[in-house]
Amino acid sequence: MHTPPVPLKTRLLNTPEVELWPGGLLRARSNADARILARARRVLRRKHDGRYLAAELPEGLMPLVPGLPREAGIEAALDRLDHEGDGRGSWRGEAGELPLDALRDHLHALALDDRYGERTGLPLVAEPDTLAFAGFDRYRRALWLTLATARAWLALRDAAGRDGVVLEAISGYRGHAYQLGIFARKRARGLTVEQILTVNAAPGYSEHHSGRALDIGAPGEPPAEESFEQTPAFAWLMANADAFGFTLSYPRDNPHGIVYEPWHWCYTADVTADAD
Ligand SMILES: [Zn+2]
Repeated sequence: MHTPPVPLKTRLLNTPEVELWPGGLLRARSNADARILARARRVLRRKHDGRYLAAELPEGLMPLVPGLPREAGIEAALDRLDHEGDGRGSWRGEAGELPLDALRDHLHALALDDRYGERTGLPLVAEPDTLAFAGFDRYRRALWLTLATARAWLALRDAAGRDGVVLEAISGYRGHAYQLGIFARKRARGLTVEQILTVNAAPGYSEHHSGRALDIGAPGEPPAEESFEQTPAFAWLMANADAFGFTLSYPRDNPHGIVYEPWHWCYTADVTADAD
């Protein structure tokens, strides 16, 4: 099975309020967007609603919203953009992590205090400041993972392929804003935080925030269903994933009270060992 090489050097730069995307990986929402994205080296994307804020073009930075200088977090994003090309250009090993302050404010606003973490035994998960492009997921969205996780996933997928087993990525990195957005939409429909928590993990407590978790599927199988357990893909993972550093996070009767998730795997190997 031939799969084209994935350009792991393609990176998503992450700041607390704004993501810096490679222009070529974003979906254009209009013809004007398409012309800009095609030429942009970087696009600044607001995390909480996905709005494109500015594009870095060969001739300079082009604002895509009015009042760009007053945008929350824009200074940190522009600072990151400025420093991308200097000493930090050769990116090795694991990235750093973003602070959790803003997340704590959001959790406070939802009246979610430390008791949630105590009850579930789940830690708050910081977002990485840099993510590697690991190809596309089943839905043709960019799949972002930490560099070590991306390498391990591609090795895992290729090894499965050599054994005649096709593994599909369903979902990788998801930021705090993604989970906060789910809560905001459901609360706007009248659900209480308690009701939402019966179905969705609290923002900040998902392993997907770390860039090291991956939901894996098999072709033709519905995503994130317990029936994945019956597939040859799952049997292969149970026999081989460990050798690639992946662990099944939520087996049956796990101590966190999270439902059995045979599709959810986390890269837990010692990440300092495989920097290049
Ligand atoms: Zn998952």
